[in-house]
Amino acid sequence: MLLGRLAKAYPDWGPTLEFASPLELLVATILAAQARDERINEVTRGLFKKYRKPADYVRVPSAELERDVHATGFFRQKAKALKAASAGLLEMYGGEVPASMEELVKLKGVGRKTASIVLGSAFGIPAIAVDRHVARVAGRLGLSKSAEPDRIEEDLRAFFPRKDWVKATWNLVLHGRRTCMPTPECPCCPVLALCPYPKKTKT
Ligand code: SF4
Repeated sequence: MLLGRLAKAYPDWGPTLEFASPLELLVATILAAQARDERINEVTRGLFKKYRKPADYVRVPSAELERDVHATGFFRQKAKALKAASAGLLEMYGGEVPASMEELVKLKGVGRKTASIVLGSAFGIPAIAVDRHVARVAGRLGLSKSAEPDRIEEDLRAFFPRKDWVKATWNLVLHGRRTCMPTPECPCCPVLALCPYPKKTKT
């Protein structure tokens, strides 16, 4: 019922980062930290024409990669993270993005959230990604009592059927971005009647 109402309210649910391959989604997700997806898409449209394989990120001089991702913010750390993840792909997986959580999180700088996004949206493998929106919404809706992402992920995996994990992720993300923001807009919330949050807003 909860997910049905959210999906009806956010029929455009799904990844907001543009990508055409698992590598592109992995790169876009690494770049998306602390930045708006629209900005990332503006940058990756050019980036993905220039960098097609993990080896391209490894070979390029750091200063050049930093320039190419500058507009995403935190460009030094992000360039470093792209180089490290790409080197890991080459060393461990023959240059291919692996399709399992266990393998993805072995890449430097790739945590469960990034891995879940790649698994769910690039490979169609059920996974729940917990970002700050999902964490906030899950807490308010009483789906998890924890503030710890791994625990929230476990609670959501127990709450939603496995087949709905990707759908649940994107609906919780959109709900957190558009309605259940830090200051929530409860009067126009599609799941108001199902929400136990005690500090609902009235106007
Ligand atoms: S009622 Fe308010 S706090 Fe509860 S989910 Fe909706 S927007 Fe969030």
